[in-house]
Amino acid sequence: MAASHDRLVLEPHFTGQLRADAIEAPGTRQVRSAHFSRVAPTRVSAPELLAWTADLASSLGLPTDPSADPGLAALLAGQELFPGSAPYAMCYGGHQFGHWAGQLGDGRAINLGERRDANGVLQTLQLKGAGPTPYSRSADGWAVLRSSIREFLCSEAMFHLGVPTTRALSLVHTGDAVLRDMFYDGNARHEPGAVVCRVAPSFVRFGNFEIFAARNEVAPMRELADYVIREHFAHLLPASGTLSNSTYLAWFREVCERTAQMLVHWSRVGFVHGVMNTDNMSILGLTIDYGPYGWLEDYDPSWTPNTTDAGGRRYAFGNQAQIGLWNLLKLANAILPLVEDVEALQEALGFFSEIYDRGWETMMAAKLGLGSWVESTDSALTAEWLQILGLAETDWTLVHRRLAQVPIAGGDFESDLATLAPAYYRSEQCTPAYRERLKTWLAAYRQRLRADDRSSAERRQAMDRVNPKYVLRNYLAQLAIDAAEQGDRVPIERLQALLRDPYGEQPDQESYAARRPDWARNRAGCSMLSCSS
Ligand code: AMP
Ligand code: MG
Repeated sequence: MAASHDRLVLEPHFTGQLRADAIEAPGTRQVRSAHFSRVAPTRVSAPELLAWTADLASSLGLPTDPSADPGLAALLAGQELFPGSAPYAMCYGGHQFGHWAGQLGDGRAINLGERRDANGVLQTLQLKGAGPTPYSRSADGWAVLRSSIREFLCSEAMFHLGVPTTRALSLVHTGDAVLRDMFYDGNARHEPGAVVCRVAPSFVRFGNFEIFAARNEVAPMRELADYVIREHFAHLLPASGTLSNSTYLAWFREVCERTAQMLVHWSRVGFVHGVMNTDNMSILGLTIDYGPYGWLEDYDPSWTPNTTDAGGRRYAFGNQAQIGLWNLLKLANAILPLVEDVEALQEALGFFSEIYDRGWETMMAAKLGLGSWVESTDSALTAEWLQILGLAETDWTLVHRRLAQVPIAGGDFESDLATLAPAYYRSEQCTPAYRERLKTWLAAYRQRLRADDRSSAERRQAMDRVNPKYVLRNYLAQLAIDAAEQGDRVPIERLQALLRDPYGEQPDQESYAARRPDWARNRAGCSMLSCSS
């Protein structure tokens, strides 16, 4: 059998059309007027493949069974290059926690090149954690196993949940130790290093445009916008093929729309990104850069998984739409020289809010099993539901899955409560006052459901298609990490398989659908995470 690198040939799309940094020598530096720097992945001691995504591999022309090609680990750690590969790191900047941070760039991500997948979609292969680049600043360019497992599992989980996201092809253990101070408390320790091969049509971020704006380098910004539009938004190209102010505006509107849709999905599944800096916002509206993210367990809009954000809660669950808008405003400011119309950009930001609000309503109606959103009744019904969820610690995933089992007819409150019971973290919080409020809400809910002319079974089916049963609960990822650090990769494989069908009933896997156990409430990695990765 031919080795996979004989089959998978990369094409230099990005590097073939955009500006390279004139310096090719290694070393951290400020890179001016360039979209990327040529880099070479660093050698690692003993690359070993720990996890593999068969369907993605196959769509790229790689074997579904990685043991078919023993050379894969070296390729996916960057030790050998796929033919046609011209590795590069991108230059970008960004606003971090509300402040302009200057040049950031791919400090530990190395793009190998692009190729079309089985559907003809251009895909970029990118290694995360393959060594330093000119953008590494004071950091080492490496990634640790725990954060790589988290990225590998979560991006795939999101993909199967139907959330726009970058994907993960492989997880390679490097055999090298990486020094990290996980709690930022002066106790650094050596951890196993790893490389994830991420796959997405493009890894361009809002920050790729912002860096040029900050430096007043309009020409390269325009080149990048033209590249992105031609490659990824080709439906916006005018018949003449010449891009104009209105093309850039249409593009920005679509970025607003895609970002809004992504954020609605995050709310639906209870995903909290944790670091929505503008350098972590994809120009394609994909979820990108899985760091100290978390899954909402008990419903609390002010919850953030990121310890660095615990004070300000800027990136809390309930703030994500507002931050999305703030980030789009920064992008709008950056591309103003291309659009040259402040009012039109402002209007597009209004369009974002419009799309988000309508999308959120439609999503909440679906979560509650309503046929469609009827403003006159559903606005109050949904608001009261969320109020009630906030009164007692209630699991966001479980409660919607269980609500689907509450029959439309009926009205025996004790039986309804028993149906919802697995979603409560502290049953003692279901006080008489709480029960009264829930009972009143359920009566109003039933009345509303009767207006829909759907059977309980039809409603449940519809709800189970939008309310996942299985998500990557924070503690589940941590258990897989603990095992992998002891050399056991089975829990990773199990979670990967489980999360390929998040909406289905998997009778043998009930334990994965349960509430977070009590021991995980405050354990590091299970509730709060630092940015150290
Ligand atoms: P993040 O907060 O992970 O999105 O990263 C912000 C910036 O820091 C990006 O420019 C990253 O490439 C860079 N960065 C993060 N971790 C490392 C690392 N270990 N080595 C080099 N650069 C890093
Ligand atoms: Mg990042």
